[in-house]
Amino acid sequence: ATPTAVMVATGVGANNGVLIKGGDSLERAQMVKYVIFDKTGTLTQAKATVTVAKVFGGMDRGDFLTLVASAEASSEHPLAKAILQYARHFHFFDESSPTSDTKSASEDYKSGWLYDVSDFSALPGRGIQCFIDGRRILVGNRKLLEENGINISTEVENFVVELEESAKTGILVAYDDILIGVLGIADPLKREAAVVIEGLQKMGVIPVMVTGDNWRTARAVAKEVGIQDVRAEVMPAGKADVVRSFQKDGSIVAMVGDGINDSPALAAADVGMAIGAGTDVAIEAANYVLMRDNLEDVITAIDLSKKTFFRIR
Ligand code: ADP
Ligand code: MG
Repeated sequence: ATPTAVMVATGVGANNGVLIKGGDSLERAQMVKYVIFDKTGTLTQAKATVTVAKVFGGMDRGDFLTLVASAEASSEHPLAKAILQYARHFHFFDESSPTSDTKSASEDYKSGWLYDVSDFSALPGRGIQCFIDGRRILVGNRKLLEENGINISTEVENFVVELEESAKTGILVAYDDILIGVLGIADPLKREAAVVIEGLQKMGVIPVMVTGDNWRTARAVAKEVGIQDVRAEVMPAGKADVVRSFQKDGSIVAMVGDGINDSPALAAADVGMAIGAGTDVAIEAANYVLMRDNLEDVITAIDLSKKTFFRIR
């Protein structure tokens, strides 16, 4: 392709909300064999919503939710925002109210209903830890609680499995080293996701899903969207290793992601595609930015590359 053809393609891309950084990535996109999708915020809408909160061990429901919300108020994670919103509604209205307000976590502090928290730490791929009244609170996945020696009863385990099998993420909460409750969080797939996966398969491209979420939830989501190859419980640093494992036989690999977690993988991929609504770090690490936040543009990008480089092959 001539420089002019590349310029034209870049312009056509831009008109469709596909920003292409450089002719090299435009050329590589036509040769992509694997497209690896991040789950949360890429295949899903990043509209995590708490669908159920179950107290174990008899703590008052309002106290339980206020404890969890206080702990999550310092977290930037999408799951944390969903939990805060749910707890806020329980506190100010009741849990059956529609969730419509958009107050931020910092405003919650001002309103004074949350407890003071000390020694907050985010544990990547696991959850969070902090202290309230000198007692430790852990909020996160099974792995986080197990690593900290928290006993998970069969009753709790069965409840979490039930959530996961219906594609929800189960978040466990321990206070003073005792399990006090579980939250179920749902994040719907993007409307176009399944159609795009099918389209890629028809083009001979193999879709893959990678996530930090647990295996059972990951498999349930992958099944819904039509992806066979799933990598779950991947620590943030591990996503780039997954990309490299697919590159080993010389295959050209595209990565599609939105989070800070995804940026090493976006950089490692032959073609990194960031969701425009995603974090700045991801956008910086990528070769393509999909401004419309629509997965159909993954196909648009590959097609554009094919059209531009067709003649010289
Ligand atoms: P993803 O690849 O799906 O974006 P992350 O690596 O961000 O996953 O998180 C992996 C898992 O760690 C989550 O599914 C959740 O179980 C747990 N986790 C991470 N951050 C939090 C948090 N702030 N509160 C509760 N759980 C969390
Ligand atoms: Mg994500």
